[in-house]
Amino acid sequence: MSTASAQSSPAIAVHAATARATVDLAAVSANVTELRRRAGSAQVMAVVKADAYGHGLLPCATAALRGGASWLGVAQLGEALQLRAAGITTRLLTWLHVPSSDFRAAVAADIDLSAAAPWALEAIAEAARDTGRPARVHLCVDTGLARNGAYGEDWPALVAAARKLEAEEVLRVVGVWSHFAYADAPAHPSVHRQQEAFEEAVALAERAGCRLEVRHLANSAALLTNPGATYDLVRPGIAVYGLSPVPDIGDAASFGLTPAMTLTAGLSLVKRVPQGQGVSYGHQYVTPTETTLALVPMGYADGIPRNATNVGPVSIGGRRHTIAGRVCMDQFVVDVGPDLVAGAGDEAVLFGTGTHGEPTAEDWARATDTIAYEIVTRVGARVPRIHVGATGE
Ligand SMILES: *Cc1c(COP(=O)(O)O)cnc(C)c1O
Repeated sequence: MSTASAQSSPAIAVHAATARATVDLAAVSANVTELRRRAGSAQVMAVVKADAYGHGLLPCATAALRGGASWLGVAQLGEALQLRAAGITTRLLTWLHVPSSDFRAAVAADIDLSAAAPWALEAIAEAARDTGRPARVHLCVDTGLARNGAYGEDWPALVAAARKLEAEEVLRVVGVWSHFAYADAPAHPSVHRQQEAFEEAVALAERAGCRLEVRHLANSAALLTNPGATYDLVRPGIAVYGLSPVPDIGDAASFGLTPAMTLTAGLSLVKRVPQGQGVSYGHQYVTPTETTLALVPMGYADGIPRNATNVGPVSIGGRRHTIAGRVCMDQFVVDVGPDLVAGAGDEAVLFGTGTHGEPTAEDWARATDTIAYEIVTRVGARVPRIHVGATGE
């Protein structure tokens, strides 16, 4: 989403002067370069699903390629088609399908497709026959996550079905892949078990005649903590955006990563109130002294968690404060204290890199009992993404 298109929508223009998510594309590129260094000889697939974790699909995809990614990955076919429509020709994998998915469009657009069940292989093969070009398929094996992927005896059956279609030359099995359940706890016994199961699944596919181009298992957490899991290709997502997938092991800086998103808003109103005044719906906060309240024009419609009530951290005038009272749909209040003089239009920083004392997305995650992934991904559609730091700017 470009700045211009974001601001051309009247619904968003209301926020354009106030709330914004500034996304540093130079940080995205540098993060990918660091991940590529860590990946060694493995290639890097930058995962840009969910609008690049809320950071803006196309600018981030381009920035990731500038940083050295040679693949892109998305969960949904529609996201992959969007990348192709924008002229991105890089290898591109999509993995979460339903029988009504438009595999014809995918094959025509030269998108690599994951298959986890025979129905998907059949649908992809039919699309390839119609399109007149063979599809590239990555077989997904469930090695213990019990989410997507072929489980147990379904795996040899999936491989056999794929080999039949390979013989027909309607598709090529180019990859075998899986996903960890405990990548964020590298010492958990399931990590080793899943890696063994993965290698057995790969061996079975190769014995059946598959000539694999890429075997891939590692997300950000595995890439950062488990160098033995890189295989031919790694699939980092959250680390591309400069957030640590394992905050209890190390913060972003300790992994050489820089958070890309800074979420800010101009204050809407600043006023004095006496001691003992209840603030916002339900008066969940009561002023301890005569004080100054600052009104921030963002709420849960913009992705601010409602359970940030009385706990969400906000920096105003270079000082850290905490949300006072309930987060509402469009706004929340901060008690900036009896001394601080702030005015309408002054900037509130909800989160950023943390290098100027402002909170980080990880601070928000801890305060609201979730993960930084959810904090950045949920930033609402009406908050414009302002992309800075692209080459040439
Ligand atoms: C989202 C996702 C990734 C990226 O995960 P991170 O933890 O963000 O690095 C990798 N692989 C699959 C299958 C995913 O769904």
